[in-house]
Amino acid sequence: MFQATCIPAGLIERYDTMAPRYTSYPSAPQFSDQFDESHLAIHAERSNASLLPKDLSVYVHIPFCHSLCYFCGCNKVVTRTDNQKVSEYLDNLMHEIALRARLYSDDRLVTQIHFGGGTPNFLSLDQIASLLDQIALQFHLDLPNNLEIGIELDPRFITSDELRTYQSIGFNRFSIGVQDFSKPVQTAINRVQDEAKTLEIINTAMECANSVNVDLITGLPFQQLTTFADTLDKIIRTKVSRIATYNFAYMPTRIKAQKMISASTLPSSAVRMELVSLVREKLHDAGYQHIGMDHYALPSDSLSIAQDNGTLQRNFQGYTTHRDTDLIGVGASAISKFDTAFSQNETTLSLYNEALARHRLPIAKGVELDDDDRIRSAVIQQIMCRNKLDLTLPIGQFIERDTNTTLADYLSSDIQRLTQFIQDGLLVPVENGFEVTDTGRFFMRSIASVFDKYLTKQSSDRVVPFSRTV
Ligand code: SF4
Repeated sequence: MFQATCIPAGLIERYDTMAPRYTSYPSAPQFSDQFDESHLAIHAERSNASLLPKDLSVYVHIPFCHSLCYFCGCNKVVTRTDNQKVSEYLDNLMHEIALRARLYSDDRLVTQIHFGGGTPNFLSLDQIASLLDQIALQFHLDLPNNLEIGIELDPRFITSDELRTYQSIGFNRFSIGVQDFSKPVQTAINRVQDEAKTLEIINTAMECANSVNVDLITGLPFQQLTTFADTLDKIIRTKVSRIATYNFAYMPTRIKAQKMISASTLPSSAVRMELVSLVREKLHDAGYQHIGMDHYALPSDSLSIAQDNGTLQRNFQGYTTHRDTDLIGVGASAISKFDTAFSQNETTLSLYNEALARHRLPIAKGVELDDDDRIRSAVIQQIMCRNKLDLTLPIGQFIERDTNTTLADYLSSDIQRLTQFIQDGLLVPVENGFEVTDTGRFFMRSIASVFDKYLTKQSSDRVVPFSRTV
């Protein structure tokens, strides 16, 4: 019988706060609607002009879904496949890809393409293939061997034969949504999916792709240790190369669908921590490496290799192996990234379509990073991706300015605030800085938040619009 690691109640109480997930720093509330297409063009030009321009990663957002899962906080639209909205959106995606491509010089290579959603496999294979063709036509793609093409799949709406066709048109990475096989949990979240069919799709995906990821969620309504252990065992038996386990972020005041979930059906903070430790121990015993905060990968998977050699990155798609790329987000709500700026597209279909009808990029907001943002962003990446903080590094490594100032000097007042984390056993001092302990990995967002200057400011100004860290 499994015995979950016990996290002291005092720790849960102290660190059960609100904080960003740090898929970006600054995080989304800092994005301003003053940021527009002209700002984007400046940052693209600056990026093109660098001595060694970065490779490009293209993210395509497909917002459509067949039905509504009550836990879901993604940008999505529930509709029918023959709806006029879908064809209008596809036309506009094609147009946006062409407009975006004009911003990047010819020596910029696309090394990664990812379809996310919503439900990308809501679209037909022909529709997906035509989007891929458009990216290939408008951008310069890296050699097929270096090119990652991935897609998030809802196993309820795909067959094994279709999956093989995805492989034949170039897809080599699949991510499959499972969440939990328990029927009471699936009913409560309005996502009942057949277990045998889901396992069949995972097995076929593994025959077709270099890397297959399964998404699970802890903290869902009616979730229990015993039944979730059963889900984990079934996924472990498939030997998928990656497993991502997200904490359910319950925010019914911000996410309307979550009003369908009663707070009284959710596991307590203590049970949520037990679920997280169950995941950790079972996957560790099965030979998976713990990646960053909430991902796991077999040692042979590129995610484990990236963590070992210090090249792991965290972005809007979670943890990624790709050397730091500039990210081009197309589609409603998609986010784009440069070293010096982030931008986000309009989130509603109407505003998105309207901008493209005027031949404008559908930028809703963004943020330009100053030197302080870039230094803090690098520190937060170190914590979230490398489980450590090297304070001997010069800040000149992260900004375009020569200086001998080290992170230890620059962040001295923030570092003092780490004392409590050390006393609580979440961090240990090492020769060049700090390392996150095994217990500390339960609280990485809280540790990272010490270096978030906006969070400190917001906490005193107003209610912080983030999910709970525990
Ligand atoms: S979880 Fe996936 S399928 Fe369900 S509503 Fe969200 S985006 Fe759509």
